[in-house]
Amino acid sequence: SSAPEPDPDYHSIISNAERSRGSSERHTFQAETRQLLDIVAKSLYSDRHVFVRELVSNASDALEKLRHLRLSSAADSNQQFGPLEIHLQTDEDKRTLTIQDTGIGMTRDEAVSNLGTIARSGSQEFIKQAASGSGGQTASASVIGQFGVGFYASFMVADKIDVYSQSSCQADAKPVKWSSDGLGSYEVSEAENVSPGTKIVLHLKPDALEFAKDENLRTIVQRYSGFVAAPIFVNGRRV
Ligand code: ADP
Ligand code: MG
Repeated sequence: SSAPEPDPDYHSIISNAERSRGSSERHTFQAETRQLLDIVAKSLYSDRHVFVRELVSNASDALEKLRHLRLSSAADSNQQFGPLEIHLQTDEDKRTLTIQDTGIGMTRDEAVSNLGTIARSGSQEFIKQAASGSGGQTASASVIGQFGVGFYASFMVADKIDVYSQSSCQADAKPVKWSSDGLGSYEVSEAENVSPGTKIVLHLKPDALEFAKDENLRTIVQRYSGFVAAPIFVNGRRV
């Protein structure tokens, strides 16, 4: 196996890391993450489109990080850089919604720590409130939207999420695939042919196929595009 040895920090983040025979590893979400995913999965129908805002804002953040990095290391002004863009793609037949950015990307270790744990104070506050609330672990999507549970909001509409990422700043970093059904665990493996940046494929739940419809998605994206500096495209057409 060519999988790298985990470092000590990595063990403190992940509660359970079982190395599979290949270069693919299964990790168990930390208890708090599972709690959040459970709340998200049981969330009410309305307003669940807020996951689009979360994905677009993450893509935008990733582009901004890369832009800053380029500015700060712009000693060579002749250096050619690729465009900073966000692309969404729908596939009604495959029931997928894909969002891709040309931003900073993630290494394998970054994907594990950024997507496998909850670092945001807002999310932790949200769990506290939802868990102590009278309704038990249910929350409306609008509450989720207010708190902005971030990446995990996509599990409101997807029963499987694949993340492909290639770090744009660590040239020697291998591309990574992060995959989860949002239940208890996620898998991390080495990937191939990943463009610098991040590509997230949502496999939509049967009741969420509306998000694989171009016009519908475009309307939702338009709502949030005003906050984003980078150009956003839906199925190749600029929003
Ligand atoms: P937040 O955006 O508040 O940090 P999220 O749950 O939305 O919380 O995202 C968690 C982390 O995952 C981000 O901080 C970032 O490190 C990483 N991440 C998510 N999406 C992307 C992306 N498209 N490109 C690079 N990193 C990402
Ligand atoms: Mg975010």
